[in-house]
Amino acid sequence: MPELPEVETTVRDLRRLIIERVIADPGVSFADWPRIIATYSPEVLGQLIAGEKILALRRRAKYILIELSQHKHLVFHRKMTGNLFWREPGAIADRYTHLVIPFRDGSELRFTDLRKFGRVYLFLNEEELSQYLAKLGPEPLEDDFTEELFHQLIASRRGMLKPLLLNQGLLVGLGNIYVNEALFVSGLHPKRSAETLKPEERTLLYHAIRQVLTTAIENRGTTLSDYLDGEGQKGRNQELLFIHNREGKPCRNCGTLIIKIMVGQRGTYLCPNCQPKLSLAN
Ligand SMILES: [Zn+2]
Repeated sequence: MPELPEVETTVRDLRRLIIERVIADPGVSFADWPRIIATYSPEVLGQLIAGEKILALRRRAKYILIELSQHKHLVFHRKMTGNLFWREPGAIADRYTHLVIPFRDGSELRFTDLRKFGRVYLFLNEEELSQYLAKLGPEPLEDDFTEELFHQLIASRRGMLKPLLLNQGLLVGLGNIYVNEALFVSGLHPKRSAETLKPEERTLLYHAIRQVLTTAIENRGTTLSDYLDGEGQKGRNQELLFIHNREGKPCRNCGTLIIKIMVGQRGTYLCPNCQPKLSLAN
């Protein structure tokens, strides 16, 4: 599933590619899987966005928010395999395209999704949008996500670190890949209980989360199978992962073979040497 770095990369690409473009009339030229549009039928969505100019793009958690006039927002969530990219006029069809939003200049915004779990929403004003996003936790790369705030968030929680960090209500943007990576970088076992962390371990985890996300954005995201950026290209971060998807390969830090275990039904990679189950002081 695309996580924060992949969604951020797409938003940055699309900012360059589609801002100022005007949506054609009707605003939906192809939709073969109506359920992909969560809020309206393809016909009604097409009417509501026809003639709208793309004013701005931003990311919130794993959502792509496209701002139209009068605070209308077109919102995409890619779930497992969704991709959103821009194509020039006359570009050949892309596999698994389930929604096309045409621009007046003949170019297109295409939403592709192999597994069809992705969703598109139209919110008619800022209030509808913020209501929908209200339960999301803080953004880990924003300035207001301070070390102190992270200490507070974690200190009040119990249970295993892995599922905790996947909880978008605690903190947004992390999925399986970057939780695995951040726990490795901080030397913490995915099954460690949050309440056993010492302050210095929480500090290590805070910096590890920000580091793995920042590095992945610099590398335009991780493409293990389906993820493509705003131009339909693969990311580069998969070459540089420490631990995720590297079962049986040597740890980049100590050479111990990486193992895979299941934690909360998610494939979890770890180095048994660098991520001991108990804290080092024990
Ligand atoms: Zn190791």
